[in-house]
Amino acid sequence: MTGVSETESGAEGAAELGGGEVGEVAAEQGGADGGAADDQRWLAMAVELATQNVRDGGGPFGAVIVRDGMLLATGQNRVTRDFDPTAHAEVMAIRAAGAALGDFSLAGATLYTSCEPCPMCATASLWARLDRVVFAADRHDAARGGFDDLEFYELLTRDRATWPTVVQPVDLGNRTEPFDTWLETTTRTEY
Ligand SMILES: [Zn+2]
Repeated sequence: MTGVSETESGAEGAAELGGGEVGEVAAEQGGADGGAADDQRWLAMAVELATQNVRDGGGPFGAVIVRDGMLLATGQNRVTRDFDPTAHAEVMAIRAAGAALGDFSLAGATLYTSCEPCPMCATASLWARLDRVVFAADRHDAARGGFDDLEFYELLTRDRATWPTVVQPVDLGNRTEPFDTWLETTTRTEY
């Protein structure tokens, strides 16, 4: 995905919530995120984005990312619209927040999502170094909606040989070359 589309995604999400009034939204919250009342309000926003996305023809998932009481980004599921199986609401929000901040670390931020993150989004949250992830519906609610979150969580606990997708190593003589090059590169950007 390009930076341009990430930015568009975030701008689009923000527009649906009132466009350039992100600061006002944050000001209305009063104080830093983390309090129970703030959690309720930000989570309600994520749920609203999810429900609206269904009305707009998308999947029932929405997310927002907040840091220091400020809305950094929003995300809605774009899998079917973008023909992108990884375009989950949380991933869209993480991409938009990173692009908005110009930083690949979202340390100090909280991700509010309308539904418990699937394994991909849970791991994306770890990669993003988010402080917290707060969700409303859970994997069982998602299963009732016909989604594979629960299935994939269970799949990950089983032997990879049982997965519908074959994941296998092939021995290659220079398999460590990329890492060797990485370690030799003193100008590398650690993440
Ligand atoms: Zn996901």
